[in-house]
Amino acid sequence: MTNRGIEAVLERIHGAEMPDLADLMLVLRVTDRAELESVFRFADAVRRESVGDGILLRGIIEFSNVCRNTCRYCGLNRRNTHLARYRLTCDEILAAVENICRAGIKTVVLQSGEEDNLDADGLTEVIEGVRRSLDAAVTLCVGERSREEYRAWKRAGADRYLLKIETSDPGLYGELHPGMSFENRTRCLEDLAELGYQTGSGSLVGLKGQTVESLAGDIRFFKRGRFDMISVSPFIPHVQTPLAGEPAGDLRMTLKMIALTRIACPQAHIPASTAMGSLHGRDERPKALSAGANVIMPNFTPNSVRRLYDIYPGKTGSDLPPEQSVAAVERMAAAAGRWVDFARGDALRLTRPSGGDSSPLAAPYDADLAEARRN
Ligand code: SAM
Repeated sequence: MTNRGIEAVLERIHGAEMPDLADLMLVLRVTDRAELESVFRFADAVRRESVGDGILLRGIIEFSNVCRNTCRYCGLNRRNTHLARYRLTCDEILAAVENICRAGIKTVVLQSGEEDNLDADGLTEVIEGVRRSLDAAVTLCVGERSREEYRAWKRAGADRYLLKIETSDPGLYGELHPGMSFENRTRCLEDLAELGYQTGSGSLVGLKGQTVESLAGDIRFFKRGRFDMISVSPFIPHVQTPLAGEPAGDLRMTLKMIALTRIACPQAHIPASTAMGSLHGRDERPKALSAGANVIMPNFTPNSVRRLYDIYPGKTGSDLPPEQSVAAVERMAAAAGRWVDFARGDALRLTRPSGGDSSPLAAPYDADLAEARRN
């Protein structure tokens, strides 16, 4: 295919209310260097036009590695008996939150494994504590919970929620997540949007059994979900999992997925993920930033437990104190001709409802949101 040909396909994906599966698969199959450059250049231009040159920072605190699930790719799976488990107290979490705010970052991401015994009231206290004394948005990433818990945390002041679908292919989802259900995960995503959360999802690239078709389906899933945040990152094998012997996700395929996500969902905030910074021991986040990403998540988990949040090996930044990881992002931004944006970085449909992407889907979504806020 000529470069003109690939650009016409990218234009179609960008303009479509629902991109064509065949178009998406065609781009995912591109291997020619000039065509690949066209894909990344197109995504970078869409990124600049829709979210600008700023790189948003989200400070993440991994407050517990206890998990009830047995996801076949994840080092936190409950069958991993080699891993010492921890749970930070409210005071420890709030101390880490203060470090985030001291670094000038205005989004706190609270992430954990999916615990049976998650202290929902304790988490409410943490959210209230952040909102009482600090000027920061709160993003939760604690897995599948009941609508009542989601509602209580929203009322306490949580702003956003991340729940990756991991793969939008229900059959593959079932194989990779024993005992979990695709329907419940999508139910959670719907509940979160209805309750007025800025909602994030995403997928992993390189999972055993994944096909180009299922990856193309992920992009359509993101488009359908009208997510405010979308994270696409490479699978990295962990020795204490059933997928230990599998190869890591392919860098080029992950970059194509990030680019397509940006092209199909221009307004989404898309991270250059920590897994992207850890693939094969190299920091590939600059490539993600050039292929459509606009967010980086420096780690503020206390040093005493950081290595125990062992979802995959070789996590980038594991040794860096938080100030240094922020400085590292500043250097990365400067090298890319970008700048670090210390704003809250809310969903663009809230901060610029009439600007940027004028998706016909935006209006009904905002109506849902208004309805949810009245509840
Ligand atoms: N329990 C929460 C949930 O289900 O959303 C959040 C914690 S979970 C450990 C956070 C993310 O880690 C997952 O969404 C998954 O994409 C990522 N992850 C887990 N194992 C991974 C691996 N081996 N390689 C890359 N990412 C992985």
